[in-house]
Amino acid sequence: MHNYLQEKYGLFIDGSWVDAHRKETFKVINPSTGEELCCCAEASREDVDKAVQAAWKAFQSYKKTSPVERSALLHRIADAMTAQVDKLAMVECLDTGKLYKEAKSDILFAADFYRYCAGAIMTYEGKASVINDTTMSLILREPIGVVGQIVPWNVPFVVGAWKLGPALAVGCTTVVKPSRYASLGMLEFMRCIEDIVPAGVINIVTGSGSRCGQYLLEHPGLRKLSFTGSTEVGRVVGEAAARKIIPVTLELGGKSVNIIFPDSDRDKVKSGLRAFLVNAAQVCSAGSRLFLHEEIYDEILAMAVDLFNSIKVGLPWEEESQMGALCYKGHFEKVMNYVALGLAEGARLACGGTRVTENGLDKGNFMRPTILADVTNEMRVAREEIFGPVLVVIKFRDEEEVIRMANDNSYGLSGAVYTRDLNRAIRVARGVETGRMWINAYGDISTTGVIFGGCKESGIGREGHWLSFDHYTQIKSIVINLAK
Ligand code: NAD
Repeated sequence: MHNYLQEKYGLFIDGSWVDAHRKETFKVINPSTGEELCCCAEASREDVDKAVQAAWKAFQSYKKTSPVERSALLHRIADAMTAQVDKLAMVECLDTGKLYKEAKSDILFAADFYRYCAGAIMTYEGKASVINDTTMSLILREPIGVVGQIVPWNVPFVVGAWKLGPALAVGCTTVVKPSRYASLGMLEFMRCIEDIVPAGVINIVTGSGSRCGQYLLEHPGLRKLSFTGSTEVGRVVGEAAARKIIPVTLELGGKSVNIIFPDSDRDKVKSGLRAFLVNAAQVCSAGSRLFLHEEIYDEILAMAVDLFNSIKVGLPWEEESQMGALCYKGHFEKVMNYVALGLAEGARLACGGTRVTENGLDKGNFMRPTILADVTNEMRVAREEIFGPVLVVIKFRDEEEVIRMANDNSYGLSGAVYTRDLNRAIRVARGVETGRMWINAYGDISTTGVIFGGCKESGIGREGHWLSFDHYTQIKSIVINLAK
C-alpha cells in the first residue's frame, strides 16, 4: 500500500519540489495503524516568503490569461484528478483514516467543483452604467492578487477545491497551506497536476499551524486570506487580516441541529442519521445536536441506536468497513474526553462510548459510534463542537421551543428539519440562525454548486458557489468623459 507514497515530500514552490530552507521535516503517522508513513517538509519563514514571491511573479502573466484559458485549465485539473482518483483516494485514506470510498467521493465532488468553476467563469462579467449623457462608468472585476489559503484536515480535497477553484478561475495566484495532519492529499494532488498548472500559480507550503501557518498570516505580500478550520484559529486569522486591511473568508466550526417532527418520513430520517457518521462525523456541518419531538423521542432514539450499533468500524481501506479512524491521536483523545464529560454532566450513554480494539484495530484511533441521550441544551456537550462520532440527543415540545434552543448556541453553520408539513419546514428553516438548512435531508444528497458557509461564530463569507468569485476580485470603476 505504501508504494503509493513518496518517502519524503518537499514544498512545491515556483513549479518545483524543494526541501525546506532549514531542512526541517515532520513525520506523517497513519491514524489507523499508528505507523509512520513518510515525512513532509516543515516550511520556515524563508520558504513562505519564497512561495509568496513566486506567486507574485506568476501573477503578472496569469492575470492576463483569458477566461477561456482559465476555464480550460480548470477542466484539465478536474480531468487529471478524476483519472488518478484511485491513487489519490488511497493516499487520503492512509493519511487521514477516512474510508477509501469516502475519500473517492470527496475527490470526485472536488473535481466536479473545478468543472463548475470552469463553466461559471465563462459568464462572470463586470457592468457598465450610463451616469448621464456625457458620462459612463465601467465596473471591472479584477483578480485581487496573491492569496493565502489555509485548509483543515477533515475534507482537504473539497475545501481545497472551494478555495483553489474560484482563485484560479478569476486569475489569482496562491500559496496554500494544508493541515499537518492531512498534507499528503494536497501534495499528491499537486503532483498529479504539476505539468498542467503554470509555475508559481499554485504554491504549497506544509508545516504546523503555529509556525508555517502563522508565517503565512504575517506575510505582508498577501492580498486576501481564506481560512477553513476552528473558530479559535479563525479569530487569529481574522485579526491578521484586520492588521493588513485585507479581506478574509472564514469557514469555521459548527454545532448544527437536526430537528425531527412526528410526521417525518422515517426512511429519510434514517438516511440523514447515517450521513452523520460519514468521515467519522468529522464534518463541520454534521448534525451533531439531534432534536427529537417528545412524541417520537423513544422511537427515533431506538432507530438511531440500532443504526449506530450496526456500523462496522474497520480499517478504512477495507471494502466492508463503514466507519474509519479518527484523524490523529490528540483529536481522538479529545473526542473520547467529551464522552466522559457528557456522562459527568448527566447525559445517558445510549450506545458506543468506547474505543474499538478488536480485529487488529488496537493501534489506531477507532471509536464506536456514540449517542449521548437525555442531553439538555445547556450541557457543554450540547454547546461545544466535538467533531467526532458523538451524537447528542435533546427532547423538544414544540416548534417555538426547538427554534429557541437551536439558536441558543454560538455557532450557526448548518442544520436540517424533517417534517411533511411544508409550511412548518419553511418556518423552521427560516427561524434557525444558520448558513444552510436542509429540508428532509442531511448531507445525504448531492450539493455541488450549492452555496455554503456559516453565520455567528461559524464564519464570514461563502464558498462552493460562483458568488465566491467576488471574494477573489476587487472592483475597479473606470469613468469615461464622452463629451465631444
Ligand atoms: P484548525 O483551526 O486547528 O486548523 C486549520 C488550519 O489552520 C490547519 O491548516 C492548521 O495548521 C492551521 N493553523 C492552526 N493554527 C494556526 C495559526 N496560528 N496560524 C495560521 N494557521 C494555523 O482546524 P482543524 O482541526 O484542522 O479542522 C477542524 C475544524 O475545521 C473544525 O472546527 C471544523 O468545524 C472546521 N471546518 C469548517 C469547515 C467550514 O466550511 N465551515 C469545513 C471543514 C472544517
